[in-house]
Amino acid sequence: MSFASLNLIPALLKALEAAGHEQPTPIQASAIPAMLAGRDVMACAQTGTGKTAAFLLPTLQRLEAHRAPAGRGPRVLVLTPTRELATQVRDAASLYAKELKHLRLGTIVGGVPYPPQQKLLMQPLDVLVATPGRFLDHMERGRVDFTRLEVVILDEADRMLDMGFLADVERIMAATPATRQTVMFSATFEGRIATLAGRLLKDPERIRIAPTEAQNAKIAQHVHYVSDVAQKKAMLMALLNEGPVGQAIVFTGTKHGADRLATAIGQNGHSAAALHGDMRQGARNRTLAQFRAGSVRVLVATDVAARGIDVAAISHVFNYDLPRSAEDYVHRIGRTGRAGQSGSAVSFALRAEHGAVKRIERFTGQPIAPRALAGFPVTEPPANGAKDPASAGRGRPERAGDRNRSGRPGGAPGAGRSFARRSPDRDGRAPAGRSRLASVGRGS
Ligand code: AMP
Repeated sequence: MSFASLNLIPALLKALEAAGHEQPTPIQASAIPAMLAGRDVMACAQTGTGKTAAFLLPTLQRLEAHRAPAGRGPRVLVLTPTRELATQVRDAASLYAKELKHLRLGTIVGGVPYPPQQKLLMQPLDVLVATPGRFLDHMERGRVDFTRLEVVILDEADRMLDMGFLADVERIMAATPATRQTVMFSATFEGRIATLAGRLLKDPERIRIAPTEAQNAKIAQHVHYVSDVAQKKAMLMALLNEGPVGQAIVFTGTKHGADRLATAIGQNGHSAAALHGDMRQGARNRTLAQFRAGSVRVLVATDVAARGIDVAAISHVFNYDLPRSAEDYVHRIGRTGRAGQSGSAVSFALRAEHGAVKRIERFTGQPIAPRALAGFPVTEPPANGAKDPASAGRGRPERAGDRNRSGRPGGAPGAGRSFARRSPDRDGRAPAGRSRLASVGRGS
C-alpha cells in the first residue's frame, strides 16, 4: 500500500517523501480514509505507531480542500496531555504541511507567558495544538473564538484523563460547534475513555491497532532483579559505562529521584540531565534541545515529562524505578525503537516487585526476560514466577556489553529486600479518585 493510494494530495505526498515515510503504517492506512470521508474516528493506537501523521495528514488535506471564512481562531484544535507532546505535534504538522502555503500553526501550553498566546488567539489559525489547562484558561477569559472550528483531535486521550483533565476537556468540547469532526486517539479503550468517546463522537469509525505487534516488536525487553537500590544504581552505571548504549532515557518514580540520579550519572562521567515537571518550561525546552542535539546522552525523567519525546537515537530505555502502571510501561519503552530503529528496554526490579513485572507482561502479552549481569550477585525472582516464559534456560550471565538477546540468563537464587512503594513525589497532576487501568503496584 502507498500513501498515493490513500488519495492524499500531491503536496502531502511530496512532504511525506521528504520525511522519508515510504508507506503508511497500519493506523495510517485505517484512519486516513475514514477521516478523509469526514467520519469521526476512535483509534486505539500507542505512541510509535505513526498516529500523529494518521490524524494530521487527512486534517491538513481537509484544510486545503476549502477556504475558511474570515475571522479569528483555529480551524483545527488538537488537545494533548503535555507541553512536549504539543510541541511535537506542531512540529509534525509543520513537517507535513511544508508544501502547503500559508498554513498557520500555533501552540497554547502552560508554563509560558500569556500575552503572546493572547495575540495568537486574535489571529486566524489553521492548526492550534494545546494542552487543556491553559487553553481552558484562555477560553474562560473569552479569548477563544470557535466559529471557524471544523476538527477537534484528542491525542493520547487516556493520558489526559489520567492527568486529571477530564473536566477541562469536557468544558472545552462543550464550547465547540456541534458540526465538528471529532477524532480521539488513545492507548486503551478503558472504561472512562469509552464513556467519553460515547459522549463526544458521532457514529465513530473504531480502529484498533494491537499494541504488541504495532509497537513493541522491535524493542527487546528484559529485567534485572536486584537485591537493593544500591545494586540497581551500580548496575545502571555499569551498563552505561560498558554497554552498547547510545542515547538513553532513565525513568525514575519521583522528580527528586530524577535530580539525584542525573547528578550521580554526571559524576560517573556521562553527560546527563534531569527532566521533570518541577522544572520551568524554559529549562525543560533547553534540556530537550540538548538531548535532541546529542550533547546530553542520558536523560533522567519522570513519566509525565518524558511523554511524547521522539528522538530516533534513543537506543535504551531504563526503568530504574518500575512504572506505576502497565500503560506507563508501554509509553516509556515506546521512547526507543522509534522510526523503524530497534531499541532495548531494561527494567530493574526488586524481588518484591516481581508481581508488577508479571502484570506488565500480562498487559503487553510479551515476556520480559530476567537477566543477570556479570560482576553482580544474582537475585532470582520469587518461585511463583515459575510459569514465566522467560525463565527457561537460565544460567549464563550477560556481560554489560552484551546486546539484548531476549530469553536468556538468570542464575542462582539470591536474596532480595522488600521494597516500600514510592509515590508521594510523583510527577504530574494526580487528582483525587484517580483510577488507572492495569495499575502495576496495586494489582490490575
Ligand atoms: P508517532 O506514533 O506519531 O509518535 O510516530 C512515531 C514515529 O514514526 C515518528 O518519528 C514519525 O516520524 C514516524 N513515522 C510516522 N509515520 C511513518 C511512516 N509511514 N513511515 C515511517 N515512519 C513514520
